[in-house]
Amino acid sequence: MSWFQRKAKGINTPTELKREAPDGLWHQCSECKQVMHTREHKNNAYTCLHCNYHDKIGSEAYFKILFDEGEYQELDSEMRSADPLEFVDTKAYPERIVTTEKKSGLKDAVRTAHGNMHGKKITISCMDFGFIGGSMGSVVGEKIARGMDHALKTKTPFLMISKSGGARMMEAGYSLMQMAKTSAKIAQLDEAKVPYISLMTDPTTGGVTASFAMLGDFNISEPGALIGFAGPRIIKETIGKDLPKGFQTAEFVQDHGFLDFIVDRKDLKDKLASLLNMIKK
Ligand SMILES: [Zn+2]
Repeated sequence: MSWFQRKAKGINTPTELKREAPDGLWHQCSECKQVMHTREHKNNAYTCLHCNYHDKIGSEAYFKILFDEGEYQELDSEMRSADPLEFVDTKAYPERIVTTEKKSGLKDAVRTAHGNMHGKKITISCMDFGFIGGSMGSVVGEKIARGMDHALKTKTPFLMISKSGGARMMEAGYSLMQMAKTSAKIAQLDEAKVPYISLMTDPTTGGVTASFAMLGDFNISEPGALIGFAGPRIIKETIGKDLPKGFQTAEFVQDHGFLDFIVDRKDLKDKLASLLNMIKK
């Protein structure tokens, strides 16, 4: 049966050419490990079709989901961090900024934009975990404050989408000042009767939880998000006790009265729109 034998020697197909499907066509859920079409996953607002796991997404994806036709105008898109403390850890802070900018395509850990949501004007600030762990430095605080200024000026609602490891250590005290600055701005929104909604996504921790994330007229969250101040390990070591099951999940936090409701990302736009219709201050 010579025709079943490979006569020519050295015919090798490289592994990457053996794949039947092009790269990126399938998405595997990191929670339940089931596979689904990348497009289906995206159309499902980046949540799992099988177990509803909410994948971590960035500002661009949230803006596309929330703004009508995915169209928006960005504010302060060129604002960049200075190095007030001349901070050096494993590398100098300005160097870390440049490396992170190149890797993430972002200028800092938050982006602010305004546009329409179901035909009504809204301003949204959304954090990006891909930029130094979504840490809050001077730029983050300033951009959020300016976003709130825009909401004040136009008398339209403000939505904050948090995703952060907390304050940015490379700006130390300057980072902590952002907590006071954003909180003061929220008081101004309140005085002007401009609605402020805070959406906490996985993870929302540290100085972000301790300031603007928990100060919404409505504090809401995505399912399964980690929400807390200090991490579970530190708390466990401090109090010397085992922590309850599900500690610091959105569901646990809601049961203990810190969240108004938990919303599926697929329903986020509709829920926000109807909520804003109801609370017209
Ligand atoms: Zn899944």
